[in-house]
Amino acid sequence: MPLTAPAPVAGPGTAAPPHWRGLPAAQQPPWPDPAALAAVQEELARLPALTHPADVRQAGIALADVSAAGAFLLQAGDCAEPTGAEGVAALQGKHRILGDMAEIISDRIQRPTVTVGRIAGQYAKPRSRPEETVGDRTLPVFRGPAVNAPAFDPAARVPDPRRMLDAYRSARAVLDELHVMAHRSAGAGAAPPARSFDGTLRAVLPGYGRTRRTERGTWRRTGLWTSHEALLLDFEEAFVRPDPLTGEAYLLSTHLPWVGDRTRRPDGAHIALLAHIANPVAVKVGPDTRRSDLLRLCAALDPHRRPGRLTLIARMGARAVDEVLPPLVKAVAGAGHPVVWASDPMHGNTFTAATGHKTRHMDDILAETTAFFRILHRAGQWPGGLHLEVAGDRVTECLGAGGPGSELGLRRAYRTLCDPRLNDDQAHLLARTVADLAAR
Ligand code: PEP
Ligand code: MN
Repeated sequence: MPLTAPAPVAGPGTAAPPHWRGLPAAQQPPWPDPAALAAVQEELARLPALTHPADVRQAGIALADVSAAGAFLLQAGDCAEPTGAEGVAALQGKHRILGDMAEIISDRIQRPTVTVGRIAGQYAKPRSRPEETVGDRTLPVFRGPAVNAPAFDPAARVPDPRRMLDAYRSARAVLDELHVMAHRSAGAGAAPPARSFDGTLRAVLPGYGRTRRTERGTWRRTGLWTSHEALLLDFEEAFVRPDPLTGEAYLLSTHLPWVGDRTRRPDGAHIALLAHIANPVAVKVGPDTRRSDLLRLCAALDPHRRPGRLTLIARMGARAVDEVLPPLVKAVAGAGHPVVWASDPMHGNTFTAATGHKTRHMDDILAETTAFFRILHRAGQWPGGLHLEVAGDRVTECLGAGGPGSELGLRRAYRTLCDPRLNDDQAHLLARTVADLAAR
């Protein structure tokens, strides 16, 4: 094994820019100062990776079990994760709620739940418009804490590339804390988390990131894999690095990167980046997805038809799902891709309340989830997973069943940086519903 940290595949100091740089890339921030950006990219490229290829492979093996119906995938967390101390402080709550949900599901279906946070990197957001207007003022939108600040203030909204270094440090702090928590919950006698030669902490505990059966037949949480939307090419490409063991390129900013519904065009830069790396990868699939485009995506991202390599996250909306999803599921199965199909019952059901808050109603979330299970069962496929935005906190951001009964109640504890999240009661209810649906 080389004694130096693996170099980025391309970037500062190497010959060619990565091939995806020439392709259409939606949703990239208009950084005002190219020299400042170049300096940050150089620094990022020299920093230790956040994840380890051996762990990324373990996450891929866990997802292969999901694709073979031997496990269920639970992926959840913030829409936009806060950086700094706030991000580390929020970890406890998210670790707790994801662990609760995973145990509820596994106890009912008697299979492991692979547990993945939208965590340690979920710092950049695609937006539907580049600007927003409040009263008579129009400013650039908030694009996530890795880009600019949420305050409605002209200076706060200027994209600042140094925020990508904050994002890196924040992800690192969250990951370190996650490893400590996982180690603690593994009990006395477990090996301490190991640090790799370049400073990366490894989740070397066996069976990490999935619930495990105890002697009493109940299931226990073991920690979280990390995931985020691989949106900011200027950040992500600094972490595309070869595995010293195999030479394959990995994206070592996370375990499971996904591409969002707004950046998934098959000939675009984001899909080319995912196609280049050996991680398990995911793509959000919205109601406008054409069957031919989805098949092109599957061919690009899963050419070898490898179980666990590709997760498709359907986010259709309760009103569209019955019409739109069945032909897509059929087409993917017909092309022989052993994908994990997961349901994101939140992003297709967003609306703005009369109070001005972006929200979602539990009735719609439950309706889309139920339809997803029905559609996958009818197609003879395993409804393999659930993708959610949850707070791990008593927020009032989504309406109904365990949350505010009326729009006025949204005001009480509406704290999200971006999209509305489920509170603990809503998350527990959804876990019980999904456990029942998956056990059928
Ligand atoms: C998200 O997951 O926060 C998001 C923006 O989702 P989508 O790409 O499905 O709209
Ligand atoms: Mn969101």
